[in-house]
Amino acid sequence: MHLSEILNHLGEERADYFNAVSPPVIQSSNFVYKDLDKFRAAVSDEIGSHLYTRGNNPTVAILRKKLAALEASEDALAFGSGVAAIAAAIIGNVSAGDHIVCVKAPYSWTFKLLDKFLRRFNVTHDFVDGTNIAEIEAAIKPNTKVLMLESPNSLTFELQDIRACAALAKKHGLVSIIDNSYCSPIFQKPITMGIDISVHSGTKYLNGHSDVVFGALCGSKEMVQQIFDSEQMNLGAIVSPHDAMLIIRGLRTLELRMHRSHDSAIKITNWLEQHPKVEKVYYPFSKSFPQYELAQKQMTGTGGLFSLMLKTKDPQKLEGFFYELERFLLAVSWGGHESLVLPIVALYNIPGKENPALPINLFRFYIGLEDPDWLMADLEQALEKM
Ligand SMILES: *Cc1c(COP(=O)(O)O)cnc(C)c1O
Repeated sequence: MHLSEILNHLGEERADYFNAVSPPVIQSSNFVYKDLDKFRAAVSDEIGSHLYTRGNNPTVAILRKKLAALEASEDALAFGSGVAAIAAAIIGNVSAGDHIVCVKAPYSWTFKLLDKFLRRFNVTHDFVDGTNIAEIEAAIKPNTKVLMLESPNSLTFELQDIRACAALAKKHGLVSIIDNSYCSPIFQKPITMGIDISVHSGTKYLNGHSDVVFGALCGSKEMVQQIFDSEQMNLGAIVSPHDAMLIIRGLRTLELRMHRSHDSAIKITNWLEQHPKVEKVYYPFSKSFPQYELAQKQMTGTGGLFSLMLKTKDPQKLEGFFYELERFLLAVSWGGHESLVLPIVALYNIPGKENPALPINLFRFYIGLEDPDWLMADLEQALEKM
């Protein structure tokens, strides 16, 4: 299906709501039945009918159709956060005594889900170097059930060879899951490469306006039904109808936003790589990136997220550079309209926390929708003063 059809029309049965161009927010917890047989049919098919909004709400159903089509999957679920979607995908495919192979340095709460939460239920794991397929295979045990990927990750951007990982999972009978937040379905479609479940922090690009926290899970009809019947209905981490409407609105511009961020980040990283005060740029589409070839093979773009390492390691200079930046906001998250900076020096010396395993002179940048030249001028003056 054409991307324009998905983003502008799919799932929008306008005749059902006064031919309104934009879908209504169906702000109702429950739905009325006058016919017992129709009620019975709805109870037996909660995912496909409108019985109760924890199961399926008409506004959310429009969003689900678009998410599935974007990922080229059979079906999709919407969750109240990316973390809820990740947890549902993983928990839904393990039982006590099972083992998970996960790439090292995944999103922090994916790490904690395996390292703390699932440990309590006797589900064990190994973290592996995802750039090395032999190391992934060597970690698979007889009780391994899930292969958890994140390609690229959102700080240093290591990739996994998605097709090779999907084939490996099939060979060993594992469920393969990928966190596809970094690329969004515009730039990477893991299901078409053989992955079983693609999950997103939809808080980032899918919504794209820094005003909703939500998650998406895409997979086969059977897998989605299984997770719906258990994790989504039991844990109940759903997205509200109002938020679903905001996300549908965000999706209208997903393609435009992704290309804008991509083009701006390419321009800015090319310039930064030549700058005398910059040691290194981490960006999958930059020619110096160690996995550049693989990135070109499985991604059609990279979006606005990259990291750079400054030459100096002097904490005062690093903090000074941050304070000179006027057009980048210090905030967590990314994927919205606004450009952001996350100086790793800000994660050092936090009371009650260990210093991160990341170099102090690393800065993560997110390039939003502003004029790239306007952003570059800000970087230039801050580097100049440092
Ligand atoms: C933000 C993020 C998440 C978590 O998503 P929430 O919507 O905040 O729950 C998961 N994975 C990646 C890569 C992220 O950047």
